[in-house]
Amino acid sequence: MIHPHTELRYRGPEIGWGVYATQPIPRGTIVWALDALDRRFTRDEIAALPAYARRQLDIYSYVDARGNHVLCWDHARFFNHSCAANCLSVGYDFELAVRDIAAGEELTDDYGTLNPGEPFPCLCGSHDCRGHVLPDDKFRLGESWNQLARDAFFLIRTVPQPLWDIVSERSAVEAALDRPELLRPIQHHFGAPAV
Ligand SMILES: [Zn+2]
Repeated sequence: MIHPHTELRYRGPEIGWGVYATQPIPRGTIVWALDALDRRFTRDEIAALPAYARRQLDIYSYVDARGNHVLCWDHARFFNHSCAANCLSVGYDFELAVRDIAAGEELTDDYGTLNPGEPFPCLCGSHDCRGHVLPDDKFRLGESWNQLARDAFFLIRTVPQPLWDIVSERSAVEAALDRPELLRPIQHHFGAPAV
């Protein structure tokens, strides 16, 4: 489920839709949490789908560490990629704001964290744009993403968290907030290198 202070806006024919903040969202806010309506598809289930449905999954789902595709039911599926993403995850099923996000700013994720199967050209336009998002970005950039997400994680108790009740692993998160050595790194989400 996506944070309530967000809405969809149309960016144009090249990018399509994006998720925008309707109010300021401070760093450390859980901006998305996997919920009971989001749907996981195994590789076998995807193989049995008609071609039009597989195409939609390619566009709108992300891939978890077990190789399942996860399709979000709400406008979380319109999260765009940025090479300077303002939202990332540590090793739990939610996304954090890793910087303060202003009202009217787009929320973005780094698709390199979401186990892409194929390289694709990037149109993010950020200062730090990598030009392409590659399946192995996660192995080169994982530790820098992890540091950003980790710093945001320890702000969880200091900012409003309207999605807290949706988080499935609340006790594990509480434990890691009290004992940082228990925090799961972002690498928890990474599947094996694509072959
Ligand atoms: Zn880029």
